[in-house]
Amino acid sequence: MSNGLTNDHYDYAIIGMGIGGLTLGALLAQAGKKVIIFERHEVPGGYGHTFRQGRFSFCAELHYVWDCGPGERVYQMLKQLGLEEEVTFHRLDPKGFDRIVAPGIDYTIGSGFERECRRLSGAFPAQAKALDRYYQTIAKIHRQLYLLPIGFTWRTILAHPGRYSHIIRYLKWTLEDLFNKLEFSPELRLILAGQSAIFWAPPRDLSLVVQAGGVGSYDQGAYYPAQSFMHVMKSLRRKIKQSPGCRTMLSTEIVQIEVANGMARSVTTAKGEQFTADRFLFDGDARLSLDLIGAEHFPTAFRRKLEYEYGPSVLSVYLGLENIDLRQYGFGEANLYWHPKVDLNEVYDDQLADRIPDRPYFFCNAPTLRSHDAVLAPPGCEQLVLVAPCRYDFFRKLRDRSEDDYQAAKMQYTKNLIGVLEQEYIPGLSDHIVEQVVGSPLTNEHFVKAPKGNCYSTPLDPKHVNLRRLNYQSPFPNFYYVGASSCLPGFATIIHFACMLYENLTGDHIS
Ligand SMILES: Cc1cc2nc3c(=O)[nH]c(=O)nc-3n(C[C@H](O)[C@H](O)[C@H](O)COP(=O)(O)OP(=O)(O)OC[C@H]3O[C@@H](n4cnc5c(N)ncnc54)[C@H](O)[C@@H]3O)c2cc1C
Repeated sequence: MSNGLTNDHYDYAIIGMGIGGLTLGALLAQAGKKVIIFERHEVPGGYGHTFRQGRFSFCAELHYVWDCGPGERVYQMLKQLGLEEEVTFHRLDPKGFDRIVAPGIDYTIGSGFERECRRLSGAFPAQAKALDRYYQTIAKIHRQLYLLPIGFTWRTILAHPGRYSHIIRYLKWTLEDLFNKLEFSPELRLILAGQSAIFWAPPRDLSLVVQAGGVGSYDQGAYYPAQSFMHVMKSLRRKIKQSPGCRTMLSTEIVQIEVANGMARSVTTAKGEQFTADRFLFDGDARLSLDLIGAEHFPTAFRRKLEYEYGPSVLSVYLGLENIDLRQYGFGEANLYWHPKVDLNEVYDDQLADRIPDRPYFFCNAPTLRSHDAVLAPPGCEQLVLVAPCRYDFFRKLRDRSEDDYQAAKMQYTKNLIGVLEQEYIPGLSDHIVEQVVGSPLTNEHFVKAPKGNCYSTPLDPKHVNLRRLNYQSPFPNFYYVGASSCLPGFATIIHFACMLYENLTGDHIS
């Protein structure tokens, strides 16, 4: 090595071991390509990484996922890698996997739009016809989304107006536009938008197309990995690591990507090592590529594309519990979406204001009731994870002012969240807590380099989810984006995108 330049040349250099980077890395390595993959954190997985606290292991930000059944995208990707028997998924109870609670409402969503339509029509008979239209619209958009090829444009869509009729029609709609058209009651709106934590957006803002993609996919199966998300990420990384000529580097931040004559040439690590490759894939937030490459190398129009806003962040509370059986308190495999009010737009206004709500809106589940892998908790112990949307700026300002104020705010928020659980579901919960970890928006920023602690990259509104959205292409023909900011967020969505990009790059086909 001289001047930091290593002698190793790779077919592909991948920056980031989120699910996008790992999927592509594993597929390319399996196809015989020489791959090097870098991750600045000490563990792989990005938002899907697992961290250890005492006798417990918590997955940071993956709770339940879709498309994992035989023949579906995640399964097919694993099969391509020969991992389908090693990495398996447990389907959450199809009769009910998302419990939506608000004053006067306690409804558990299960699989099957027809079944859901029947159940809700029974409870809201005056809106039966409108419910039928709602589910038909959502199902049709969902089906059409899966037909979209990678790198689609208006031209692709307009060339097949029949195939994409509902996407064309509803691309600019919010979920609330559809609710208003169908004149749904406030209670029905809350139930139908009650899975909003998949998007962290209220009906007023949420793209109807995104709602259809998310709830339509969970409708066909909500899954949890049989041996935790750590096993998924480690298996993908191992596939790369064990392939001839490939290398995986943890605790290695890429600080510069060199371009010359319009092509990416090499990457430089924080330690000054430089690696060259034919092609480069970036799994971090796409906007970060401006700094890594140098904004001056990007055409103005593309720079504008990267100047998107960021969506909300979250406060996440991870609890290790002892001497408690959560089933006795009504917990099972289902997620609990708890709302202090019926109006979800107002819930988000309160939650994203510059203060700590007394009774915060949150999403909660018990991973130990989904997977009995000993890595999650020791025998006889349970895990509970609570997540609440919140403002990055609120915590940033506190921390800039004083570390004590920042820590106190985190603790107060946590106390309020646990307070709701104790009042509503688990009296005496605090007495069973043996481990407690609290992640704020600044924690997301620190560990997975998510700017402003954003959960899902951009807000998932029609302003950001449209045909001008970033895709895999960059201005440099051998530099590609993969991950939430270039496609859409979510484990299965990103795997689907990574598989299409793999096919596009190699000409191979994942059957
Ligand atoms: C609160 C919350 C809950 C969620 N729940 C779910 C859920 O239940 N189901 C679901 O499907 N999805 C969920 N998601 C979304 C899902 O976690 C993400 O969309 C997905 O994991 C993002 O994957 P990614 O490939 O975009 O990479 P990321 O997970 O964003 O990882 C990118 C990686 O790149 C690394 N990196 C960045 N820059 C560099 C650099 N310069 N050098 C080296 N490494 C770098 C980062 O450290 C990071 O590890 C949730 C997200 C959040 C925040």
